[in-house]
Amino acid sequence: MRLTRHVYLAGSGLHGFSLSNDYDCHVYVIDGGSELALIDAGAGLDIDAILANIRFDGLDPARLRYLLLTHAHADHAGGARGWYDRFGVEVAASPEAGRYLRDGDEERISLAVAKQGGFYPASYVFRACPVPHILKENDMFSVGELRLRAIETPGHCSGMLSFLLEEDGRSVLFSGDTVFHDGKWLVSNLWDCDIRQYVRSIEKLAAIPADVLLPGHLSVALKDGARHVRKAWDTLQRLSVPPSIV
Ligand SMILES: [Zn+2]
Repeated sequence: MRLTRHVYLAGSGLHGFSLSNDYDCHVYVIDGGSELALIDAGAGLDIDAILANIRFDGLDPARLRYLLLTHAHADHAGGARGWYDRFGVEVAASPEAGRYLRDGDEERISLAVAKQGGFYPASYVFRACPVPHILKENDMFSVGELRLRAIETPGHCSGMLSFLLEEDGRSVLFSGDTVFHDGKWLVSNLWDCDIRQYVRSIEKLAAIPADVLLPGHLSVALKDGARHVRKAWDTLQRLSVPPSIV
């Protein structure tokens, strides 16, 4: 599903538009001309469904070169190994998410408790994957003719990144699980969910004049995306907390 000139939505689960497997986060495709990149991998339970959507949009999956991860939770990073095995994608992630994925560390990504909470099938396995590109604050990453900026936004979990893409004079913000449509966020009872860090990350994103907001789940905003981030920050400035999407 084409969203902007260079960005498509190819995967999305039950907490979204049901384009692919129920457990998938939003999986975006960026078309940089000579090469494609995915933003997040989905859970990896049905890559073919995402591939069918990529082809439906007229894109050739043979051009897939990169997979940029917002964070290592299984609905975002669990599919990395599958994309690597089939297309040799080069994964880019934060130092923490990169470590969890290289090690296939189910503890650090809170998979066991997420299974107990009913968020994944009991049989689900998080497969380790090489991570050749490590991204830190303000690092730029090229995808063909396009460039994305990495923004460190910990809080929902450790090692969370957002990505900012400039296209045709408009800013596209990929906010992962940090901030969602209508000023919501995603706090949970996990070891690395950190409210103080989360608040600083929302403040940081609220200063970005994003035109388009593309989060990891639920609705997207194709104009005035910054309004949704500012709503979360306004709530926090009133000493309250935004609603959590789960
Ligand atoms: Zn998450």
